[in-house]
Amino acid sequence: MQADAHALRQDRAGLILGRIAEQGHRMTGPRQTVVECVARRNDTFSAQEILDQLTGQGLPIGRATVFRTLELLTELAFLHRIHNEDGCHLFTVCAERDHHHHVRCVSCGMVETLEAPTVEAEIRRVVEGRGFDLLDHVIDLVGLCSRCRPST
Ligand SMILES: [Zn+2]
Ligand SMILES: [Zn+2]
Ligand SMILES: [Zn+2]
Repeated sequence: MQADAHALRQDRAGLILGRIAEQGHRMTGPRQTVVECVARRNDTFSAQEILDQLTGQGLPIGRATVFRTLELLTELAFLHRIHNEDGCHLFTVCAERDHHHHVRCVSCGMVETLEAPTVEAEIRRVVEGRGFDLLDHVIDLVGLCSRCRPST
């Protein structure tokens, strides 16, 4: 079980690196290190956290490299942006291509994807009711996951 999860995350780094190469982006050693670092994460993280983690391991990785690599991964849709309570950007690894939302546990940072078709329809209805052509929307949900909820 543990080994499978580990193998999956290894594959994820390989998959992401393969896609980046396919698209003709230059892959330097430091960029690859950033990709391998984030591919292991199942929670949310900020660019600063990744930078701190890598420099804490004594790796010579610059702030710009971390920020640019996370931007690239977001463009390629391997990372999704999530806003936290302070309005700060967080990222999460997410392979989901169809429109969806995320719910994030404020305690452990774990993230799940959600689809809510009736909510989507209602958003469209109220926005179009105001004469708008709806182009996009962002809804991030926060809560306490089943593991972090105090048991009653
Ligand atoms: Zn997502
Ligand atoms: Zn939690
Ligand atoms: Zn939506």
